[in-house]
Amino acid sequence: MTYSVTLIPGDGTGPEIAEAMRRVLDATGVEFDWHIQNAGAEVAEKTGEPLPESVLDSIRENKLAIKGPLTTPVGTGFRSVTVAMRKELDLYACLRPCKMYKGVRSFYDEIDLVIVRENTEDLYAGIEFERGSQAASDLIGHLSSLNGSVIPSDSGISIKPISVEATDRIVRFAFDYALANGRKKVTAVHKANIMKFSDGLFLEVARDVARDYPEVEFEDRIVDNMCMQLVQKPELYDVMVLPNLYGDIVSDLCAGLIGGLGVAPGANIGDDFAVFEATHGSAPRYTGMNKVNPLAMILSGLMMLRHIGETTAADMLDSAIARLIEAGDSVTYDMKPNRDDPTAVGTSDVADALIRLMHDA
Ligand code: NAD
Repeated sequence: MTYSVTLIPGDGTGPEIAEAMRRVLDATGVEFDWHIQNAGAEVAEKTGEPLPESVLDSIRENKLAIKGPLTTPVGTGFRSVTVAMRKELDLYACLRPCKMYKGVRSFYDEIDLVIVRENTEDLYAGIEFERGSQAASDLIGHLSSLNGSVIPSDSGISIKPISVEATDRIVRFAFDYALANGRKKVTAVHKANIMKFSDGLFLEVARDVARDYPEVEFEDRIVDNMCMQLVQKPELYDVMVLPNLYGDIVSDLCAGLIGGLGVAPGANIGDDFAVFEATHGSAPRYTGMNKVNPLAMILSGLMMLRHIGETTAADMLDSAIARLIEAGDSVTYDMKPNRDDPTAVGTSDVADALIRLMHDA
């Protein structure tokens, strides 16, 4: 069987790691028909649209995509293409397994956590009012008359919607994932003590859903405490389910526990489509240098292999990655004890080494 997959190389260092991932996945023996689609700043310059409809159509047709990171201009310009894609395709669950491979640079001996991040709402909903705009001024006036809120007139405002429907389905996704993968516990993460009507709702719905899954333990943690606990006692946690923004932040924290962004994979999953992508961004200062670590994107490809049921190929690749990391010679600078280590290899060398390891197995 040949799998048609939309491949979005991304920008910055994206194309280099995407090429490494493609070569490695092709070498597993699974047949892929890669449909290359471009998005981001360069495409916006040419077509006026950072996320052309043709990219979304390709994913709708193939139902499967893997993407490199895309740069988002800070403060001004278009909003994140990645965020738009998640919303357009209703990829409501961001799944980020954080499993430590032996040999990574980490303070811990073993880490095996899973992050389930809500992907469609919260402060990422894109409902924003620019400082000084008429809309911001109207909103400030309206809120003042509604409940006496005092908001300085020079404020910018971002709105945080959290709904019952979106919370219900993300928490169910977390429990279903736990059941399907032999996980014991789901922890809901929130700040319900402060944001009673958004995070409070998230917690209330999570508690309701948990009653439908008596075989999986459920607990909740306030997000700031969760961050400290993850650093001090990560072994106490298993699957975590979080609203969008906390999920984003805690993902990077957990990437830090398992050896850094260079080895943190992910997937955006909805009822109809799945788009795989690393947790990290486009690391633009290393563009074209054949330097950054392709393993996070390759591990995202490994998640894709498991998603489509290619278990034998996935296990073979997983074993090759484990051997590569443990041996520690064919790894990029970020995985060396010292970042200036002259023995660090380049992005494409990691792919070459993995291909050799799979063939030698
Ligand atoms: P980043 O993840 O690109 O970089 C953070 C740090 O991690 C940097 O020091 C970088 O060099 C390092 N790093 C990242 N990936 C690495 C890799 N594969 N190997 C080795 N080191 C790696 O985050 P940033 O600098 O905050 O963001 C850069 C751009 O990426 C921004 O425009 C941001 O919006 C975008 N971004 C995109 C996505 C996405 O497309 N999914 C996700 C996050 C950030």
